[in-house]
Amino acid sequence: MTASPSLVAGVIGSPAKHSLSPTIHNAWLHAAGIKGGYRLYDIPEGEFEAKVGELRAEGLSGLNVTIPFKERALAISTRQTAEARQAGAANVLTFRDGEVWADNTDGIGVIEALSAAIGGFSEPRTLVILGAGGAAAGAIMALRHVGSRIRLVNRTRAKAEILAERFGQQVAAYDWADLPAVLDGVDAVINATSLGLEGRDPLVIDFAGLPKTAPVMDMVYKPLDTAFLQAARAAGHPTVDGLDMLIGQARPSFAHFFGVRPPEGLDVRALALAELARRGG
Ligand code: NAP
Repeated sequence: MTASPSLVAGVIGSPAKHSLSPTIHNAWLHAAGIKGGYRLYDIPEGEFEAKVGELRAEGLSGLNVTIPFKERALAISTRQTAEARQAGAANVLTFRDGEVWADNTDGIGVIEALSAAIGGFSEPRTLVILGAGGAAAGAIMALRHVGSRIRLVNRTRAKAEILAERFGQQVAAYDWADLPAVLDGVDAVINATSLGLEGRDPLVIDFAGLPKTAPVMDMVYKPLDTAFLQAARAAGHPTVDGLDMLIGQARPSFAHFFGVRPPEGLDVRALALAELARRGG
């Protein structure tokens, strides 16, 4: 009798060593009784394409892609979902039928994470997104689908303008210098820059002008309670950390890699928090 093949997937990034994705996916694999594993590939920036080729040849079923490779992931794919194509970035690569499939599930993660705090998306919302990289593009894609308008603020304005042009009337580009006026009257603010990530400068903005009921979300989850979220709370805003987004984007990723939805009922947020505590915050 031959043993059933073991499915292996992973996350690739530079850096990726902070990632909690292995904790989440391996817990789901274990709970679902699936023979397989989810690994971490922290690589130098220049080695992305070669490493993906190597892992594909080794028989991996797919990869989550994190900073700074999401645009490059889309570029090396041979087939794309509409979400990845329109976002111009992929956080999931799946190797099947001789193809490299690209998808973007970051937007699903943002909607899931923010929904409760913002009171749902059944009404049109206006949000400020800080940053115009791959994660911002994924978020814009999903938020546009639920009728939201986005004010996009980025250090390099040209990148924000490219996204605004791609996504049309619902998205407008602004300069960093337009803060805090751009926060006036909006329903939520999302940090989609890599500022605040461990080892980088914190993100500091003036929250004056932002309605007090508006939630502030940070995509960064290492550290979980960023200086940005602490300042937002001090200014009276509800906050949403990056872990719920991570779990939200991981669910459809798991289905891509392992062929089934992750099992219900497992508190992966608690497991991820325990892992963060074990690592010392
Ligand atoms: P990315 O494509 O590398 O984009 C980085 C963004 O950060 C760009 O807009 C960049 O602006 C901006 N930035 C970098 N350094 C800056 C600085 N010193 N001052 C102002 N802006 C700066 O990265 P990404 O893939 O979009 O990821 C962005 C963040 O989201 C990362 O922290 C990532 O860990 C996090 N993330 C979290 C989740 C989750 O599930 N929680 C999912 C995806 C991403 P320029 O265009 O001017 O360079």
